[in-house]
This record gives sequence, structure tokens and C-alpha cells, in this order.
Amino acid sequence: MRAVVLERKGVLSIRDIDLPRTVGPHDVKVAIDTVGICGSDVHYYTHGRIGDYIVNAPMVLGHEAAGVITETGDAVSDLKPGDRVCMEPGVPDMQSRAAKLGRYNVDPAVRFWATPPVHGILTPFAVHPAAFTFKLPDTVTFAEGAMVEPFAIGMQAAARARIVPGDVAAVIGAGPIGIMVALAALAGGCSKVFISDFSREKLAIAGRYPGIEPVQIADETLASAVARATDGWGVDVLFEASGNARAFAGMFGTVRPGGAVVLVGLPVEPVAFDVANAIAREIRIETVFRYANIFDRALALIASGKVDLKPLITGTFAFDDSIAAFERAASGQPADVKIQIRLGAGKVR
Ligand code: ZN
Repeated sequence: MRAVVLERKGVLSIRDIDLPRTVGPHDVKVAIDTVGICGSDVHYYTHGRIGDYIVNAPMVLGHEAAGVITETGDAVSDLKPGDRVCMEPGVPDMQSRAAKLGRYNVDPAVRFWATPPVHGILTPFAVHPAAFTFKLPDTVTFAEGAMVEPFAIGMQAAARARIVPGDVAAVIGAGPIGIMVALAALAGGCSKVFISDFSREKLAIAGRYPGIEPVQIADETLASAVARATDGWGVDVLFEASGNARAFAGMFGTVRPGGAVVLVGLPVEPVAFDVANAIAREIRIETVFRYANIFDRALALIASGKVDLKPLITGTFAFDDSIAAFERAASGQPADVKIQIRLGAGKVR
């Protein structure tokens, strides 16, 4: 089967590769229509590793996908061929202690698409457990279906924050995940969400959404913009979505006493932060690793029309142009949020 294969750091090809394709009793086979390129896909391409996950063998990329079911296992009753679906890319060991706690995202044995040594799904067909496959309502396009995965991270962050209606929040970093976090925080009840970045283009995209207030950090720090808007009190929730070590320096000063900091961005190196400041004001610190039991909720919000992710899709490439799509994503165009690759399940079925 043809696939977009990361051969090793910096080398991509579109070629045939042998992938296990047996449909088990609880599995579905999906003809892939659309795959979004994630920051992690690009990072494996340009750096060959993320932390301890190292690309030691050719690996198929891609984990943000939507498509059409072509086959179902004998024990699958709630999905059928022809159903349009999106897939949650991480499959835990359902017998694990983490899975029994409902926190299957932190199961050490979780198998997540395009995370070494697990292949991704930039390929015409994928086999996946039905339990991690979600039917798209008619109003949700394949392109939006492929946005459920990154939006689920924003949703997990909003859930971890335990937002109360009317909260004011701030997000550090206006990349795809930062914007998704801001949108999830608004959907979760925030009255206003500040978002800070250097990139004027990214802030302009985020600022088109009512309720999101962009802060250009060359003009004014986030802490100062927040202090001005809240009479020096601070935001109820601060989301860190940049992964930039420098963001941690003044972080706690932006949060109100008793507020929360939610860490979403992944710093490359360990970072220092001001524990005394956090303790003195009893700041609650939460972390986000992917998501658990969130995909259906993310999809429901998109289907309801309350969250419109379509403006974030800033480029669409054909499967044969996948390498160009990765080049574009790796070049980090300031006005790009999400690049997608269209395989077109209709054609390959
Ligand atoms: Zn992703």
C-alpha cells in the first residue's frame, strides 16, 4: 500500500510499504479521505525525534484523519460500511490500570499513530478499533473531521482547567494548538480569552473569533495586557501552549490568586519556574497529555456549529503532493495554521 514514509530524519518518500491490514472482530477498515499535518509530524521529519521517541526505522506519518468505513469486524454493531468517520489515534491497553482509571491517555502501553515505532495513516486505508472510531454527523465535512484530533487537545486543556462560566483566560502561543485551546476555553464558558504571540499573522487569524483578544508581545507583555484588563487581578486560567522556556518566567504573575495554570506546550529542555510565587497565591497547576474521553465531545461541539474550525485550514494538498505539503508545513509560514492532505476516499473506494 502506498504511504507517506519518513525514511529517516529529513527524508520523506511516497512509496509502497507493507502494513498489517487484518480486520479483527472489533475493528473497522477506513478509506482515508483527509489527513492533517501535525506539529509532531513535522518535528519527526525535521528532527527525527521528539524527546525519547526516536525514528529508528521508516515510519508512516499522520494521525489526524477522517474517512469512510469500507469494512467492519464481526463484533462491530454501531458502525457500518459507508459511514463517514474520524479516528482517535491513540489506542491503550484496555486492561491497563490507566485505562481502568479512565485516564487511558497516560497508559504507558498506549499505541499512538505516527509515534515511533507505530505507523501513522497517511496511506489510503487504515484498520482501527471501532471503539476509537467516531461517526461524523452529515453537517461535518471530512476536513473538519480531521480537525477533531487537534481540537481534542484544546478540549482536554479546557476540561483540565475546570472553567467556570464567565472565567477570563489567557493562552500563551497562537499556533494551531493555542488557537484550539482558546476556542475550547470559550466554548467551555470563558467570557474572554487573551492570546499572545510574536506573529501578527497568527494573532490576526485568532482575533477573527469573537471573544479572543490578541496580544502582540513585541508591543506589550501578556502580563501587562492582562493586568490592564483585570485591574491588576489576573486571569482565572492561564494556558501555556507555546512550549517556549521563556514563557515560564513571569507566568504566575498573570494568574489571579487561587487561579490555575494549564501546561499544554512541551518545552524541549527542563524549565525553571517560580514555585514560591505559585505557592504564595495557591496556583493550581495542571498538565495535558493528548486527551481521554474527549473526542465525542469535540465532535459534538463542531457539529453544533458553536466551534468553527474551517478558517484554520489554510492549505490543502493532494496525496501525490504530500512531500510539498510537508515542505510547506516545515517552512513555518506565519499565516499557516493547519495544512491538510486530501486522499479522497471517494476515489480509492
Ligand atoms: Zn496532532
